[in-house]
Amino acid sequence: MKLIRLLTPVLFCAVLASAQSNSMLPENSITKVSDHVWAILGFPNVIIVGGTSATLVIDTGLGAKNGAIVMRQVEKVAKNPKLFLATTHFHPEHAGGEQAFPPNTIILRNAVQQREMEQHGMEMIDMFRGFSAQNKELLEGVKFRQPDVVFDADCKLDLGGGVTARLLFTGGGHTEGDLLTFVEPDRTLISGDLVEKNQMPAIFGAASSMTRWLASLDKLAALNARYVAPDHGDLGDGTLVAKQKAFMTELRDRAIEGKRQGKTVEDTAAAMLAAMTPKYPGYNLNANNMTNVAKKVWSEN
Ligand SMILES: [Zn+2]
Ligand SMILES: [Zn+2]
Repeated sequence: MKLIRLLTPVLFCAVLASAQSNSMLPENSITKVSDHVWAILGFPNVIIVGGTSATLVIDTGLGAKNGAIVMRQVEKVAKNPKLFLATTHFHPEHAGGEQAFPPNTIILRNAVQQREMEQHGMEMIDMFRGFSAQNKELLEGVKFRQPDVVFDADCKLDLGGGVTARLLFTGGGHTEGDLLTFVEPDRTLISGDLVEKNQMPAIFGAASSMTRWLASLDKLAALNARYVAPDHGDLGDGTLVAKQKAFMTELRDRAIEGKRQGKTVEDTAAAMLAAMTPKYPGYNLNANNMTNVAKKVWSEN
């Protein structure tokens, strides 16, 4: 176990811990994202993609109780019982509700995420159980399921009626194995934790990388998405990809500037915070997350 993971337990996902006080997804609440895509907005946002012959669910909610809430919504919109499940990354609110899905669900994961889950999945479950009494109960007895399909970088699903979902591994950033999904003909990108609306990116520990994250954003920009459905926070349009890139590029460049000027990491973070807070209202910038970003950038540049 890497020490840095122990030192930064509250930084895992952008809205976790301080802002997030309820780990239950809402019942009977579904929002249309685009013609063939719906979202259950909560912790996290769970996405449902529907074709005429199959349905794809992306992420599970935290524990089997939340997975069951997702399944009740899936049953309302699905045109066919054939069901695929993909997870954006191995963190417990994204993948820890798999047990509630029917046994014949076809579970897909990219190889890097699968390896990361095997190496660190239960360690994360234990950590999340310590966040609250509710989490402790929701994650009781959770075990990750074995995937039915493991792919390297790209997996295209035909969901019927002209609807396709491209599952993409672009090199990660938030974790090592982040999975993105691009739905056609909607041009909807399900962006996991890599693209969010007006939020400080959750960079933490050894698994995150500013360099890989920025490289992933370049690949996502090439998709030319019309809609973006992030895993945390508000839904948005295709402009979120470029906004995320601009924001993170500024973070990186300011961190490098501080290093070149011979400042301490704390002084660099303070200068970043002072310069960027007025420019990015609502991003929840603070000394803690800025220091974290500066340390990460310094380690990579
Ligand atoms: Zn997350
Ligand atoms: Zn996460």
